Amino acid sequence: MKRPLLAGNWKMHLTLAEARALASLVAAASRELSEADLVLIPPFTALAEVRGAIAGSAVALGGQDLFWEDKGAFTGEVSAPLLKDAGCDYVVIGHSERRLHFGETDASVNRKTKAALRAGLAPIVCVGETLEEREAGRTMERVLTQIRDGLDGLGREDMDRVVIAYEPVWAIGTGRNATPDQAEDVHRFIRRRIEEKYGNGAASCAIILYGGSVKPANTYSLLKEKDIDGALVGGASLEAGSFVEIAREAIKGRKERQ
Ligand code: PEP
Repeated sequence: MKRPLLAGNWKMHLTLAEARALASLVAAASRELSEADLVLIPPFTALAEVRGAIAGSAVALGGQDLFWEDKGAFTGEVSAPLLKDAGCDYVVIGHSERRLHFGETDASVNRKTKAALRAGLAPIVCVGETLEEREAGRTMERVLTQIRDGLDGLGREDMDRVVIAYEPVWAIGTGRNATPDQAEDVHRFIRRRIEEKYGNGAASCAIILYGGSVKPANTYSLLKEKDIDGALVGGASLEAGSFVEIAREAIKGRKERQ
């Protein structure tokens, strides 16, 4: 059985002291959550602090973005090798907030994904439709373009490290999550596309997360779905109690997977 993966995206929140306190609580609780994989994704400023706080635990570290070049005169940017050196195993790529506010495109997602893989990071590639696209019946078309172009040129072996996060834009930070049926439809669609391109082995091993207003109360029903392998959690990851509870519910849901 695949272990659920729960990744907490702290976005642009938490001072060093707050980050250390939260990461320490998650690290302590992780001892009783050995059936799940936990990842903390703080702002760049807190990577070192969080790395220290989770040392010796099974909790992993991730970055919120990267630039596709490995090094150079790119003021303000952080590369994949620098993230690796800072202790990261994961990096979020193409989050809808970056697509919306910072001009991220499927082409830049593709370059960043390749940079992450080159450095030995697992990219968490975010895809998802806007409310307008959903209401126009264009959800699958949008997601198909994002995975086709975002993952263009990747080989079969790369797929062992790629994590896909389906995050409907209308569900992020809104308190309105996709229903388990809505999420499962898109997850199944993504898994089938992976199967078509890379085969059955890659599709069944692929980790596909759901993101969008995940909370302790909705995690169990989402994680019971066949193709939902975990969650990318924003707001509810900023409090240790709710993130840990989400992990517990995910483990329960996974065990009763349909
Ligand atoms: C996210 O940041 O990816 C996210 C899903 O946020 P929230 O859980 O707050 O909706």
